[in-house]
Amino acid sequence: MRPVIGITCSYAVSVTEGTLHISERNEIGLGYIRAVEYAGGAPLVLPHVQDSECIDRYVGLLDGLLLTGGVDVDPLLYGQEPHAEIGSVDRSRDEMELELTRKALDGDVPIFAICRGIQVLNVAAGGTLYQDIAAEIPQSTLRHSQKGAGWYASHTVDIQPDSLLHRIIGGITTRTNSFHHQAVRDLGKGFIATAQAKDSVIEAIESPTHRFALGVQYHPELMWERHPDARSLFTAFVKAAMANGI
Ligand code: MN
Repeated sequence: MRPVIGITCSYAVSVTEGTLHISERNEIGLGYIRAVEYAGGAPLVLPHVQDSECIDRYVGLLDGLLLTGGVDVDPLLYGQEPHAEIGSVDRSRDEMELELTRKALDGDVPIFAICRGIQVLNVAAGGTLYQDIAAEIPQSTLRHSQKGAGWYASHTVDIQPDSLLHRIIGGITTRTNSFHHQAVRDLGKGFIATAQAKDSVIEAIESPTHRFALGVQYHPELMWERHPDARSLFTAFVKAAMANGI
């Protein structure tokens, strides 16, 4: 039976010109949905809720949790004041996702975290972030905000041997797309860095004490149709979620 994969989403608001009509929405890129469905999961988008009981019910229902991309995490949530180069933040999304992630970690629900997701996962475990790579890691000269197509693998990533990521990819190097201006700084409790770009920016983290808690700084949901390494991340995650229910 297909495991149920909870997928987090973004908040968007627009005002219709010439009116006072305000439209608030939760949105999700279809790449996440399609990749999970392709990999054998049943995707279920989780809207932004406030009530803890809703989050408890979600965690109980889910076989796996996919943390998706989006805006920057509020730095106050990891003990920093906002840097001048911080992007947009969404405090209510942060609070919902941090509670969801902590409860999923406590319950050992398989977690796969993408881009903003790796940052949420790290902060949920007590870690911190670089708020802006260009401003805070001056020795980094790599372009982490690529201008090519979403599926294009623009930089190299070195993978730590014998890690979960290594077992999934089957090699110690891969190429990834890159659409981020932030990165993992201090690791969350129990997490190890298992991939780095050539400028040492962390591109993946995982927890060896959970059955599957893996974050990547790149966007495999934009690559899986063309790149087997990106595809294998989703299939390994869904397989772990399948085993979760047994
Ligand atoms: Mn990158």
